[in-house]
Amino acid sequence: MIRILPGTILGCCVLSLMVCGCGPGETPVAQTDGESKEVAGDVKPRVERVLTQAEQDQLTPDQVLETLRDGNQRFTSGTLTSRDHSKQVREAALGQFPKAVILSCVDSRIPVEDVFDRGIGDIFVARVAGNFENTDILGSMEFACKVSGAKLVFVLGHESCGAVRGAIDGVELGNITEMLANIRPAVDHFTDYEGDKTSSNKEFVQMVAKQNVRETVENIRTYSPILKQMEADGEIKIVGGIYAMETGEVEILQD
Ligand SMILES: [Zn+2]
Repeated sequence: MIRILPGTILGCCVLSLMVCGCGPGETPVAQTDGESKEVAGDVKPRVERVLTQAEQDQLTPDQVLETLRDGNQRFTSGTLTSRDHSKQVREAALGQFPKAVILSCVDSRIPVEDVFDRGIGDIFVARVAGNFENTDILGSMEFACKVSGAKLVFVLGHESCGAVRGAIDGVELGNITEMLANIRPAVDHFTDYEGDKTSSNKEFVQMVAKQNVRETVENIRTYSPILKQMEADGEIKIVGGIYAMETGEVEILQD
């Protein structure tokens, strides 16, 4: 008889094993197939497998958003789902039916799959410094939703974003100059702001980061008639959120 204890480190998908002293007639505490486990204490690791097309078809955009919210709750509380990545890799080789496409900044401190407690084959992730859209990103989103059936477009900005700070300060360097021009409209949105409009003002940086997410969401609707129509038909939702660096919490931004 074995007892399976939950991994203790965020992102850990390996369960510790130890000998259990259960006697005859007592409830087994683990199955060896890794699908269902009762564990010591109150913590029960959730074990998921790769999504099928039938399961993807039945999801609504609101359900997917709720899934991301619940996953972020597990991320912030240190109860990430246990996953057998080797098994998921083999399952995913047969095809992919992801729930959502997420546009994130490249910031190394934001592990997107973990932030929403998602596994292999579960979400598309597009990344560019400053999480803005362009033709290539829009094409990727249209592929994710129109071709591959994803139900949600999620733009994920974050606190203390270096790209946002660079746009605020008007940094010019190589290709970074042109890249930051994509964020400039969010900075210019606050022309009437009377405070310090430099990157040393955390409040201003956060205001611009949120505005940049809102503008990206709106630009996706403006520059992708396909996604706009899908949203109007209730097939997808397009939403934005901001990641808090110290807590890992994602705040959903309302339109
Ligand atoms: Zn960033």
